[in-house]
Amino acid sequence: MSHHDERTFVMVKPDGVQRGLIGEIVSRFEDRGLKLVGGKFMRIDEELAHEHYGEHEGKPFFEGLVEFITSGPVFAMVWEGADATRQVRGMMGETDPAESAPGTIRGDFGLDLGQNVIHGSDHEDEGANEREIALFFDDDELVDWDLGTAEWVY
Ligand code: ADP
Ligand code: MG
Repeated sequence: MSHHDERTFVMVKPDGVQRGLIGEIVSRFEDRGLKLVGGKFMRIDEELAHEHYGEHEGKPFFEGLVEFITSGPVFAMVWEGADATRQVRGMMGETDPAESAPGTIRGDFGLDLGQNVIHGSDHEDEGANEREIALFFDDDELVDWDLGTAEWVY
């Protein structure tokens, strides 16, 4: 990992998995030149859902959010690259798909505020990326590898 690189946590939510969007979403990050260093197809249990979305506990949509995120499998990933957290957030669009520009993942595929296809660590929440990576992955599940020496990729 070179000095300007960082890792960020990304997840295809149950609606994205059910709609067959895993490949499309992985493809977009690969195309962007980000490097995949971890991936796990899994089911989130109640406890992990509460930890992951702890900041939203008490909000009116919280119970529905937990129900949704535990309703089917998700594809959890770790992507690495320069300013990766911010880059991924930009590619995702806004929280509400209706406010997301065409060309963003939520702008192209999201249905509504709840079913918005993808999660990515918040770049405005310092350390959220590292916390979320640690919540979903053990150290030995993350792979150090060299994407190549071409200068057009990070
Ligand atoms: P983001 O996923 O863009 O970081 P938040 O962290 O604010 O957004 O919210 C986490 C998730 O909770 C959202 O992606 C969305 O699925 C859901 N959510 C947020 N706000 C609402 C809301 N007002 N109504 C229903 N669901 C919401
Ligand atoms: Mg968030």
